[in-house]
Amino acid sequence: MNSENKGFNTICTHVGEIQDKQFKGAISPIYLSTSYAFEDVDVKRYPRYFNTPNQEALSKKIARLENGEASLIFGSGMAAISTTLLAFLQKGDHIILQRSLYGGTANLVNEEFTKYGIEYSYVDTNDIESFEEKIQANTKVIYIETPSNPLLRIIDIKTIADLGTKNGIITMIDNTFASPVNQNPIELGIDIVIHSATKYLGGHSDILAGAVIATEKNIEKIFHLAKNLGGSLSDFTVWMLERSIKTLGLRVRQQNKNAKKMAKWLEKHTDITAVYYPGLSSHPDHEIAKKQMKGFGGMLSFELKEDIDVSKFQKELKLIKSSMSLAGVESTILSPAVTSHALLTEEERNQQGIKNGLLRFSVGIEEIEDLMNDIEQALQKIKVLEELEQ
Ligand SMILES: *Cc1c(COP(=O)(O)O)cnc(C)c1O
Repeated sequence: MNSENKGFNTICTHVGEIQDKQFKGAISPIYLSTSYAFEDVDVKRYPRYFNTPNQEALSKKIARLENGEASLIFGSGMAAISTTLLAFLQKGDHIILQRSLYGGTANLVNEEFTKYGIEYSYVDTNDIESFEEKIQANTKVIYIETPSNPLLRIIDIKTIADLGTKNGIITMIDNTFASPVNQNPIELGIDIVIHSATKYLGGHSDILAGAVIATEKNIEKIFHLAKNLGGSLSDFTVWMLERSIKTLGLRVRQQNKNAKKMAKWLEKHTDITAVYYPGLSSHPDHEIAKKQMKGFGGMLSFELKEDIDVSKFQKELKLIKSSMSLAGVESTILSPAVTSHALLTEEERNQQGIKNGLLRFSVGIEEIEDLMNDIEQALQKIKVLEELEQ
């Protein structure tokens, strides 16, 4: 199907679908074959070459969602990130990254890059001038992630893209938190967009996958390394992901709405001392967010009053689940101090603004009143329990 001039939800539902010519079924058939005829065909199909019928079809949809020319789908977000970074970096090269990165990406850089002779510099996420100051003669890549985890800070994407263009440096963004519904960095000049499809693209907490979107030329370069590293995924997962993306727009737009209402409600709550959500006018980066985002996303963080025990609060929640991951249709919550940022010292966490009372909230599609009631009953319950203890 020609995807030009189609709206977002139409792209989600239809672009890249495989016609079932045999039975005229309504959805894409799934081809699990790992073996394809070799003679008399132009394409040498093989799952690790990222070119089975289902992989090719879904790549078209994902590329179109980000307004890119082409895409590759990987077995995880980290497979997409590691392969993409290493495709553009070699011994003696230098990369600039923002400091507040997804933990897995930070580990990849900190634990592996020195082995390959790749230099790296970190820049404080909101010190946009420093990106330029850190550029060296051997800088090949600038890598950003906005909104950031867990404080939802926003980097000006266009400024970074322009800096890359001016200096001949490839720019990459991890667009997982925003999803293609809310932010399309290629339109702002970024070269390469990466997603953990485990999150919003999948959306049901049942798929591990990743994707990278770029020009044909850059995808070709990434493919060249990808087929050697072998990070592709099963066609069953590809098919699950195609099905999931059909509702991407519906899900994320509902999550945007819920998160915004929830952020406003939490901001007024007397047991909450701070709320971090780019859609609030109190957020330090609200103006940049308004400029570059179509919606403010389903992720927010908030701080409980110091005398409230975070883990007790989490245990009393009945609807909102404690979870390490995010972006499912169900609401989930985690405490960065004891999970994603547990390896940092308390002092390092405080420097990054991650207090012990901070909770990261992935807002789902539930009725907002039920989510508010859940938080309220948990807060009341721990107060009653504490009074009984005294
Ligand atoms: C989860 C996540 C990743 C890693 O994705 P996996 O699918 O778990 O490998 C990368 N970036 C961000 C922002 C994430 O949330």
